[in-house]
Amino acid sequence: MKLDVDVLRYLSKDDFRVLTAVELGMRNHEIVPTELIDRIARLKHGGTYKVLKILLKYKLLHHDSSKYDGFRLTYLGYDFLAIKTMVNKGVFVAVGRQIGVGKESDIFEVAREDGTVLAMKLHRLGRVSFRAVKSKRDYLRHRSSYNWLYLSRLAALKEFAFMKALETHGFPVPNAVEQNRHCIVMSLVQGYPLVQVKQLQNPDTVFETIIGLVVRLAEHGLIHCDFNEFNIMIDDEEKITMIDFPQMVSVSHRNAQMYFDRDVECIFKFFRKRFNLSFQENIEDIDSSDEGGDEAGKPCFFAIERKSGFLDRELSASGFTRKDEEDIQRFIEGSTETDTISDSQGVGLVEDQDEVGTVDDDSSHLVEQNDGYESQGKDESCKVCESSESEKEDASDNEENNEDAMENEAELVKSLNKQRRRAIAAAHRGRKTIAARNSYKDKGGRSSHNSKIQKQLSSW
Ligand code: ADP
Ligand code: MG
Repeated sequence: MKLDVDVLRYLSKDDFRVLTAVELGMRNHEIVPTELIDRIARLKHGGTYKVLKILLKYKLLHHDSSKYDGFRLTYLGYDFLAIKTMVNKGVFVAVGRQIGVGKESDIFEVAREDGTVLAMKLHRLGRVSFRAVKSKRDYLRHRSSYNWLYLSRLAALKEFAFMKALETHGFPVPNAVEQNRHCIVMSLVQGYPLVQVKQLQNPDTVFETIIGLVVRLAEHGLIHCDFNEFNIMIDDEEKITMIDFPQMVSVSHRNAQMYFDRDVECIFKFFRKRFNLSFQENIEDIDSSDEGGDEAGKPCFFAIERKSGFLDRELSASGFTRKDEEDIQRFIEGSTETDTISDSQGVGLVEDQDEVGTVDDDSSHLVEQNDGYESQGKDESCKVCESSESEKEDASDNEENNEDAMENEAELVKSLNKQRRRAIAAAHRGRKTIAARNSYKDKGGRSSHNSKIQKQLSSW
C-alpha cells in the first residue's frame, strides 16, 4: 500500500468527520452500517453519502454490502486519522520517504517544523503475522475475525509504553515522542540494522554489549522476544540501539525461559556465522553467576537476579494495561485460550451480523470511555467482532478486496446517491428515514449520544 499523504491536503473537514464517524462506528461494528455513519457524522443535506464516495475513491474506506450496506476503515484511512492527529498536535509537519518495512509495520521519516527528522512507525498487524503464522491463522479462522486496527493500536500502545520505560532505565532505545492509534513517532536512529553489517571493528565488544542487554532486560523483568540482527541498530561508532518492542514479555511469562534462550541463541548464531566468533574463549565470563551458562558460555535465565516490579510499576502508569497485554499476547501466541477473551468479559460485540440492527449502542459509553478519538484508553468493544467473514478481515487490509468494490462502484454510487436523496428528503420532512428507524435498534439515547459525538467532532 502506498501512503500518499498528498491526498491529505485534498481532504476537507467533512471528509475527516465522516472518516472519524466510521472509526467510531467500528467500536462495535466490524462493518459500520451506512445509516449509522450518517447519524454519527450528522452532515447536512445528506452530505455523508457524498463524502463516502470520496473516501472510497481514495481507498480510505472499504465498502461491504454482503450482509447489509456498510463501510469500514482501511489501514490507509486509519493512517490518515493518526497522521492528521499528529499534525494537529504539532508533532510533525511533513511525512517523508519510507525508511523501513518491517514484518508488520511501515516506517517513514517525518519532519518537525524546525527541520528535525523523526521516525514514524505505522503498525500493520495482520499484514504478515507476528510469529506462528499457521497456528494464528487457524486460530483466527475458528475464532472469527479479529479487528486488525484494534490490534495494531494495542501494538503501538505497548511499544510506546515499553520504549519510554526502557529509556527511563537507561536502555539504548529510540526516544519515544508520541503515540496515536497505531502510530508511533520516535527519534530517528542513525545507523543500520545489524543484519546489513558485514564487518565490525570490535565484534567481541559489540557481541558482549548485545548479550549484556538481553541479561539486563531480564534483570528488569523483561524479555525482548524478537531480539535479533533485524531489531538491533548499529552506527558507525558501533553503538547499539535496540528497537521493536510489541512482543516483549515479562520474565514471569510461562514460556519466559524459552523466549530468553531463543533471544540469546539468535545472537550467538548470528555472531558465530557472520563474524566467526568462537564463544568458549570469548565470553565465558558473560554471565557473572557461577550457576549460569551452558558449555558455550551462554547466560542462564534462572541465574539472573531480578530487580522486581519494573513492568508493574512503570507500564501500568503508561496507559498500557494488563488487559491490553493479555489481548495482544493472545494474538501473538495464537493461543487457544483466546476463546475466553470476549466471552468472559462481555465486550460489546455484534453477535450476529444478520441482526445488524443490534447495535450495542448505548453509544455514549463509547464516547466517554475514549476521551476524544485520539484516546489511548482501551476500547474493548472493537476487539473482536463475531462474523463468518473472517477471511475478509484477513491480512492485507490494503488490498482490501477493493477490487470488488471497484466492480460494484457504479452500483454503489447509485445507491449512495439514492440514500443521499432519501436523507435530504427526510431532513426536509424533519424526521428520520424509514431505514434509519428500522435497520437497527438503537438502545441508547440517540440525541444525547449524538450531541456528545458532535462535541468531539467539532474539534476537527
Ligand atoms: P517491525 O516490527 O515491523 O519488524 P521495526 O520496528 O523492526 O518493525 O522496524 C523495521 C525497520 O525500520 C528496522 O529494521 C529499521 O531499519 C527501521 N527503523 C525502525 N525504527 C527506526 C528508527 N527509530 N530509526 C531508524 N530506522 C528505524
Ligand atoms: Mg523488527
